[in-house]
Amino acid sequence: MTLPPDPRTHLASGTTRAVLRIQHRILDTVRAHLTGLGFTELLPPIIGPVTDPGARGAKQVDVDYYGHRYKLMTSAILYKQAALFAFDKIFFIAPNIRLEPLETAHTGRHLAEFHQIDVEVAGASRSDILELLESLVSRVIEQTLHAEAAALGELGRDSAVLGKALLSPFGRRTHGEAVDRLRQLGHDQSSDAEIDWQGEVLLAAEAEQPFLITDYPKGSRGFYDRESEQLPGFLRNFDLIAPEGYGELCSGSERENDYRKIVTRIRETGENPAKYEWYLKAAREGIPASAGFGIGLERLTRYIAGLDSVWQASAYPKVPGVPSP
Ligand code: AMP
Ligand code: MG
Repeated sequence: MTLPPDPRTHLASGTTRAVLRIQHRILDTVRAHLTGLGFTELLPPIIGPVTDPGARGAKQVDVDYYGHRYKLMTSAILYKQAALFAFDKIFFIAPNIRLEPLETAHTGRHLAEFHQIDVEVAGASRSDILELLESLVSRVIEQTLHAEAAALGELGRDSAVLGKALLSPFGRRTHGEAVDRLRQLGHDQSSDAEIDWQGEVLLAAEAEQPFLITDYPKGSRGFYDRESEQLPGFLRNFDLIAPEGYGELCSGSERENDYRKIVTRIRETGENPAKYEWYLKAAREGIPASAGFGIGLERLTRYIAGLDSVWQASAYPKVPGVPSP
């Protein structure tokens, strides 16, 4: 896997310009689509006393905030839920910092600095939010094929292959079914954990269309994903996986909003609930039930543009472990 060149070489290249035009189109389409559906865009926080603990294997970054130890956001999930005090349908285009393990420098899918298209809807069920996710991703692909044909052509992206995403509804399988399939393929995937990076690629390589994996086991994800009442031990959550070997694009869920269950779930992950003081105070007073998702913007750009590596989808790429401007 190649690494980013210096900023001038990277930014002045025809490839980067084509990619960034596509990324601009993606952002423009996301904003138009969600605004048309009555969403309000909010600007996300960059620092806070706590951040999402659910990021697998990544280190958080501390900031000295007037003598208090604050964190750079690994994900604004807790703030999305709080945003529902203001509006029922919100989104952020949110920067995230995750010091990912060094071995991720060569997955082609990890950056230490990236952005999420972060969406949350009060009162939504998993099926409501999946319908929104599918309509949003389909709209983005359709609009890019239509309006960025020249940029896709410059990058050598075959529009017929990308266009397959639009031919039928996204497929769906449970986490258990995905684990079974990976074991059939000879991959030793744990049934208690998220699908690992190699597993994601294997499943993605078999697909021509984005597809969903649902019902991850409790313990594999953050405390804010709601546990199923019908299937205790499993979560009302999902991932969207891009086809052609590209892998995970998005994670989402129905959220837990019962104060006592949240505290229990935080304890189960071995964390001290006192860290989450502001969030737990809000939960005790009543956070709206909701569902939402976060799409990795650079990962979505990589898939749509057909890029070898996700760093090509960033103007100022930070590959884990690689000192960069
Ligand atoms: P997560 O909360 O870990 O599921 O992250 C939400 C989404 O952000 C994922 O589905 C990815 O699309 C994207 N993402 C997560 N980690 C990274 C990373 N290190 N680099 C680029 N994109 C990422
Ligand atoms: Mg995820």
